[in-house]
Amino acid sequence: MSDMAKTENMINNKGTHPLVEVKNLKQYFPISEGLFKKRYVKAVDDVSFYINKGETLGLVGESGCGKTTTGRTILRLYEPTGGRIFYDGQDITHVDMMSYRRKMQIVFQDPYASLNPRMTIGDIIGEPIDIHKLASSKKERREKIISLLEKVGLNSEHANRFPHEFSGGQRQRVGIARALAVDPEFIVCDEPVSALDVSIQAQIINMFEELQEEMGLTYLFIAHDLSVVKHISDRIGVMYLGKLVELADSYELVFHSVHPYTKSLISAIPIPDPNTSRTSKRIILEGDVPSPLNPPSGCRFRTRCPYADKLCAEEEPKFREVGSGHFAACHHLEKIS
Ligand code: SF4
Repeated sequence: MSDMAKTENMINNKGTHPLVEVKNLKQYFPISEGLFKKRYVKAVDDVSFYINKGETLGLVGESGCGKTTTGRTILRLYEPTGGRIFYDGQDITHVDMMSYRRKMQIVFQDPYASLNPRMTIGDIIGEPIDIHKLASSKKERREKIISLLEKVGLNSEHANRFPHEFSGGQRQRVGIARALAVDPEFIVCDEPVSALDVSIQAQIINMFEELQEEMGLTYLFIAHDLSVVKHISDRIGVMYLGKLVELADSYELVFHSVHPYTKSLISAIPIPDPNTSRTSKRIILEGDVPSPLNPPSGCRFRTRCPYADKLCAEEEPKFREVGSGHFAACHHLEKIS
């Protein structure tokens, strides 16, 4: 890669280089209307953030807000429509991804659909080892598979079984072992616990945390449920209709959110202790998320925002720093707090 492709301005506010950074990322999907007309679903529209090495950035928002598309575009599973993607200081927006595939992995949401039902668990985990030629003999391959199974709380006996013989939680463990097989640095965790029972969710999240500590992993942790993300994330970004509307340290975001959309998400988090009264009321948003084919003018949240006025319809709010490392996109923050 040429020196030109190296990023020159990749210092974050902690003075270190992020492992992953996106700048003005856009992902538009074309929809044909008639013979010559095309419109675009703006799934991700001008999104910028970074993730430091060893950090977990949570990404939350309702279904269809663009969080999964953001994760997949970073991995170049979709080619970005615009913007730039950096990995460890290198611009990877247009490079051949083969050498990055090992470093950047994904764990999918649905542990039922993401595992080939005709392959044994051993072969599912062994496949990336084969593709990247990471074992020089059958014995080494087998040892690697067993070690990966043990890492995710399974054992050697599971290697010869098929996915249908496993529970949802066990299948997700297999999905994680498959991602770990190539010894990655960065994992996009795409709603990895959403399809699981609540009792299993905590076990899998704890395992993600233990693996992060043991292997120095960096995560982009995507979920629609803020109560899931807040436990594992160092920082959290909130997306609405293809835009990042707020981003802050997890504690700051949960206890001092400023954007009305984030406030509504936080007000929906269940309080575990019934004797603890909520200081803020549950905020119920009116209406549904508008279509990304035809998003509202100005602020995209304005059709559901109780504070919306003329300015909100006319001008898109800037994503600006409102406190140290705390960013939000809203014209009227002073009215809202
Ligand atoms: Fe609501 Fe206007 Fe702020 Fe958008 S810019 S969140 S519509 S007050």
